[in-house]
Amino acid sequence: MENLIWFKFCSRTCFALIFSLCCTCFLLNAQSQSNPYKICKVDNTIKTKVYVNIHFILTEDGKCNYTAFDNGLGNTNITGLTVAQEVIDAMNSKTNQMEPMKTKKPDGTDHPHIKSSGTEYVLYSEPSNSNDLYHGVWFHNYDKYDTTISISDGDPNFSYEELLALNPTGYGDKVYHIFLIGVRWYIKDGIRNYSIGGTSFLQGGQRVHNGWYEQELLGSPVYGLGGILNHEFGHLTGLSHTVWVYTDPLTGQTYKNTVALASDIDKDAEVVESNNVMTYGGSQAALSAEQFRIWRDFLLKNTTYKFIDNTNLCIKKPNPIIIPMGSNVVWDSYLELDRQVIVEPTATLRITCDIRTNSRITVMRGGKLIVQASISNLCPTEFWPGIEVWGNPNKPHPPLEEIENRLLTFDDPGVVILKAATLSKPVDGVFT
Ligand SMILES: [Zn+2]
Repeated sequence: MENLIWFKFCSRTCFALIFSLCCTCFLLNAQSQSNPYKICKVDNTIKTKVYVNIHFILTEDGKCNYTAFDNGLGNTNITGLTVAQEVIDAMNSKTNQMEPMKTKKPDGTDHPHIKSSGTEYVLYSEPSNSNDLYHGVWFHNYDKYDTTISISDGDPNFSYEELLALNPTGYGDKVYHIFLIGVRWYIKDGIRNYSIGGTSFLQGGQRVHNGWYEQELLGSPVYGLGGILNHEFGHLTGLSHTVWVYTDPLTGQTYKNTVALASDIDKDAEVVESNNVMTYGGSQAALSAEQFRIWRDFLLKNTTYKFIDNTNLCIKKPNPIIIPMGSNVVWDSYLELDRQVIVEPTATLRITCDIRTNSRITVMRGGKLIVQASISNLCPTEFWPGIEVWGNPNKPHPPLEEIENRLLTFDDPGVVILKAATLSKPVDGVFT
């Protein structure tokens, strides 16, 4: 598929190149190899919505968790509804106000700062659903939730199917279901301990045993769930753990864990100190560039999971980004563009990091575009339209080797230089 698309692009390129010799425009140095991703820092992304529902699992008598009316202990200032919103907010802030990685890359250099994964968790509800009393927040009295059983003695059956079958929400796989189980405990060294955040990833959902309700019981509620829930969602996107050694807090047993897929992570350093989303403990608030690419690709390319809504990535905004006359602009961070880019006469735009777009890039007469990274489609269901160059058949072209550094005038043909660039899935590649 990729080859075919390239072929189409290549034939267009050659066509355009020939055309340039006929004094319409200049186009140089296209290469047919695909390059490794060049994701640099990430300052912002266009948000992709993930629709979630939050389920509080209560015991059969309606206890041991937050209820719709109180914190489970009679305090009506804190309810499952306020906690649900706090949980959503915590997830969103953790994944969109990310920290730089504490560890360095295997080559000793700093990771680029990935500030946002572009994920926006949204409580989902439909007004017509009369069962949905609390707009995406559910409370289930569950007879299998037996607080007298330790989680080390075999879990009550909290399988996804069983949990989902508690009470039909009517939403099925349109939402990502998060099941919050208030009290889970185990005996270690003769002492009862509460689970500090055991989670398990379920295809299309997750369940959480968390010490947060234990904190409520102790009088100091902590909604430290943002990082944990993002971690489980990270597994769904295809990420494995960054650390490769794990000591089970319950048994004390040490496991060698799955090695991170991401090649830019120093796993030995991660064992010592990590703030990565995909580690245990730490603030779980950082991603490496390679992890970001996996996470972001999962959301952007998704056509499988109904709870991911990336349709806004296909909306083209009307007001273009102008690279103004006389300016010399370098884009050295990952960008997602939902509008046309126009390089004006005598302006130069150099793109040194991968970008995604759903719109055309236009290089006017006398404008110059230098691409040293990949440009690919932002909209998952549509190719991006390509690069448009305005030529001038009446103007002779300068020697090709001078074009990159030559100052252009207003009526010079526009210039596009592809240096080790990949144009992934454009409709028309470069055209004149
Ligand atoms: Zn995990």
